[in-house]
Amino acid sequence: MIKISPSGKFIEGDKRQHVPVLVEWTCPKCKARCQRDYSDQHYFSYPTIGCAFETTLYCAECDYEMPVLATVGIICLIYEVTREAE
Ligand SMILES: [Zn+2]
Repeated sequence: MIKISPSGKFIEGDKRQHVPVLVEWTCPKCKARCQRDYSDQHYFSYPTIGCAFETTLYCAECDYEMPVLATVGIICLIYEVTREAE
């Protein structure tokens, strides 16, 4: 049996930490549909991996910055491989 547990240590992301997500939301102020691609032009600065942090989503239509909580995570999955004996 393989057991995976948190080590209790924290990993800091890069200065420009890109992640493969496209975020889409409706601006609460002007109701415009907005989107932000974090895999390309947008990024998070030094996120602590696995911990929530405050940031904003910016609406270019009305210049509103919506406060949000975000978490950048890494998933580790390890599977046992079974092979038949020769
Ligand atoms: Zn707006």
